[in-house]
Amino acid sequence: MARTEMGRFQEILERRAVELVQLLRKRDGIAIEKSADQMDEIQHASERDLAIRNVDRESALLRDVKAALRRIHDGSFGTCIECESAISPRRLAAVPWASRCIQCQEVADRVGRERTESVSETLVNAA
Ligand SMILES: [Zn+2]
Repeated sequence: MARTEMGRFQEILERRAVELVQLLRKRDGIAIEKSADQMDEIQHASERDLAIRNVDRESALLRDVKAALRRIHDGSFGTCIECESAISPRRLAAVPWASRCIQCQEVADRVGRERTESVSETLVNAA
């Protein structure tokens, strides 16, 4: 990948990382907010649940963005971490923190989904 192109991705990723850090810092406040009122408490509980889910997603994204920045520094950015083929420019334009080519990502998503499903099954059985 051309150095200028790499620099552009670095800029996008760094900006995204800053945004996510700020967002996560703000959510910290929501998650610990408490209310004495019973109805408020219920309302807050669901807001808190949502906030926690968002935090999970945003932390995962931040981790991916940081990993992509590391790959820019070590020169492996744009190369699939699984099969080492080049990730398509279109995919990188849409998902600059992509660490896998589309084929390997599909496999990873499928494996991840199966793992999540079996975890929730365990929870159901345990209940
Ligand atoms: Zn691949």
